[in-house]
Amino acid sequence: MRIELCKWYNGAASPVLFMIDDLANAWVDTNSNGKVEWGEDWGFFRNEDQSSFRFLEERILREYPDVKVTFFVPVGCRVGMVIEPQLTMVSEPINATEDSRAFFRFIHHHPNYELAYHGTTHGVPGRLAADFRQEWASFGSLDEALQRIGEGLHIFEDAAGARPLGGKYCGYTSNEFSDESINSSGFTWWCRYWNRGLESGISDPTFGTDPDPLTNYDIKRFGSRGVIDIPSTVNGALLNGAFGSVRSPKGAVKRMLRKTYIRQKLRSVDALMEHQLVISIQEHIAPSRDDGKRQSPNIFDDSASLIQLFSYLKGKNVWYCTGSELADYVNTRDHSVIEHMADGRFKLRHEMEHRGRTLSLRSRDLPSFRLRLPDGTSVQAVNGVVNIPVLPGEYTVMTPLGEESPERGRASEGAVPDKIQSVHPKRRGHRPNRQDQRVY
Ligand SMILES: [Zn+2]
Repeated sequence: MRIELCKWYNGAASPVLFMIDDLANAWVDTNSNGKVEWGEDWGFFRNEDQSSFRFLEERILREYPDVKVTFFVPVGCRVGMVIEPQLTMVSEPINATEDSRAFFRFIHHHPNYELAYHGTTHGVPGRLAADFRQEWASFGSLDEALQRIGEGLHIFEDAAGARPLGGKYCGYTSNEFSDESINSSGFTWWCRYWNRGLESGISDPTFGTDPDPLTNYDIKRFGSRGVIDIPSTVNGALLNGAFGSVRSPKGAVKRMLRKTYIRQKLRSVDALMEHQLVISIQEHIAPSRDDGKRQSPNIFDDSASLIQLFSYLKGKNVWYCTGSELADYVNTRDHSVIEHMADGRFKLRHEMEHRGRTLSLRSRDLPSFRLRLPDGTSVQAVNGVVNIPVLPGEYTVMTPLGEESPERGRASEGAVPDKIQSVHPKRRGHRPNRQDQRVY
């Protein structure tokens, strides 16, 4: 019998993250009628009727309560695309009013949602949309980047009531100062690249440089603190081709073509699960832009694709998590070592900062067993996997035979994995200056 660490929580094939960019205190009035309508709102109308958040909850997430969302928030006055816009855009910092603060705070403290950092203004608009300079590319020095991040974190904390643990480069665009600005600012995780872009065969700095899908779609680290780099691997618009205005074929033929199309497109998701890689589904909160163009991907145009995707994942062995939950598991996993002893006993060598955090362990040859924890409680394995807290002392594997023996029968029934699952990393407080003692 051999116990080993699971790559992902609960022995999942893949973590699934739903990442939505540019939730902001902004609104583009696309038809200039002074009223909000579907697709115009970026977060300015909070949870009101016709708001994007309402659309997300009611039209997409309602049937998928397990799905967790990580929202990337430009915290200041989110700028538009061009200097001379065609449409009116209202934009304020997320802490502008008591109502806006309450809205962003509500999301950040919701068990299924997390706010992450996405700059202050998102960048600097130019004459044309193509001239837009993304925020991190606009910084001329590390000091400038650090100062702006500091200002942004202040706004974020004022609204959300806590510091963000992670974030994403605006437009996946960075320069030579960027990674160090993230490392020095104390973030635990970050999204640096549109990793899937590399499959286009085009070379683009926003795609990253790793040509091997096995590592390109997995967790990486950067900086002296080993900041976790979460890859961006799935476009939320993946299945849109099945739902557009399909031309000539009707009825059964159309349905068959659609099915074939979807199955073929989902192979890229299957491949991620097959190789235990990250499924991170990318979206924008709204299609509206002040230059009159439509932003893609967005949750409105892609709702059918997203629903199909979530339906497909529903029966799969996946772990729905936020960016911080993923980073928390990976850090605990990477800083814990199983020390095997005789008679099915083992210890977890770990650092103090990971004590009490959750790890998933697996036995490849024992589908059913109980694991007695150092504190005397025990946990039942499901399909050979147990979710346990990292504790000092001995863990003991109890086979069904051993469990019945009076000698080992004292294990209590108390420790249930659910209790451990409900711990959210963001609620444990952020430690921006902590130094990892491990060399990566
Ligand atoms: Zn963005």
